[in-house]
Amino acid sequence: MKLETKIFLKAASIIFTILIVVWFLVLSGEDGKELEIISFDIGQGDAILIKTPENQTMLIDGGPNNKVLQKLGQYLPALAKRVDIVLLTHPHADHVTGLVEVLKRYDVGAVILTGADLKTDVYSEFLKIVEEKNIPVVIAEAGEAIHFSDNLEFDVLSPEQAGDLVFNKKSEGFGSGGNDVNDTSVVGKLMFNNFSILLTGDATSKIENRLLIYGENLKSDILKAGHHGSKYSSSLSFLKFVSPKAVIIEVGAKNRYGHPSPAALSRLKMVDSETFRTDLDGDIKISTDGFTTNIYKEK
Ligand SMILES: [Zn+2]
Repeated sequence: MKLETKIFLKAASIIFTILIVVWFLVLSGEDGKELEIISFDIGQGDAILIKTPENQTMLIDGGPNNKVLQKLGQYLPALAKRVDIVLLTHPHADHVTGLVEVLKRYDVGAVILTGADLKTDVYSEFLKIVEEKNIPVVIAEAGEAIHFSDNLEFDVLSPEQAGDLVFNKKSEGFGSGGNDVNDTSVVGKLMFNNFSILLTGDATSKIENRLLIYGENLKSDILKAGHHGSKYSSSLSFLKFVSPKAVIIEVGAKNRYGHPSPAALSRLKMVDSETFRTDLDGDIKISTDGFTTNIYKEK
């Protein structure tokens, strides 16, 4: 693994096809010591695969289409048809759509959901398959945690309370009571030895402000920027607390929302974060032993 990683780093400036081949070697030659977090380039939406050193897998969101299937085929071992945990940050189409086919085709160990109950066709279909396949469901709530191993843990920081969030059909944005579905996003911090990454779904600055109560505990090596780099997320006070060395933005090329916004990008610059974007960089792979971390870009 170490040797192959070195080879990769030397080859990084050569050409695209070599980069892909070496990447494949690194993955297939995995010796189980590294945590890998891969942000898939699947268009305008989120889909992030986590592979633990003990080969447990967690898929956070599935993107706006079925590209996630091709990506899972690429990054999971050839015959692997299992994903241990599927975590849906919130039920918007750009996060849930790809998960429908994942649930159909993969053996999924458990599903973690936010409490939001959005009455859209795609989310109803998702829930129907979860029920038909009898997949255990956990509703995420701040204070819960997933213990992958002694030194690898995912702490849920938001939403504050599970359940009781019902939105009208076709209401992709605001539901009754003015609650924004984005703000029900599961926000969690994944920690492995000295490494940490904060994953925020589509939470806006309203939630970011509330998260400031975590103070120093927000500090993370890497931040998955909220809501595809929208101007309503990545507030400066939040970024200062998180103080990320690198920021990942999951965003589609030429999307109709204008994500990532120039305002969010300039705030990221103010805290000296190196920014990675799936629209420009392709798949972005973070690989870490918990002490040394490398970030690889596909393009
Ligand atoms: Zn989204």
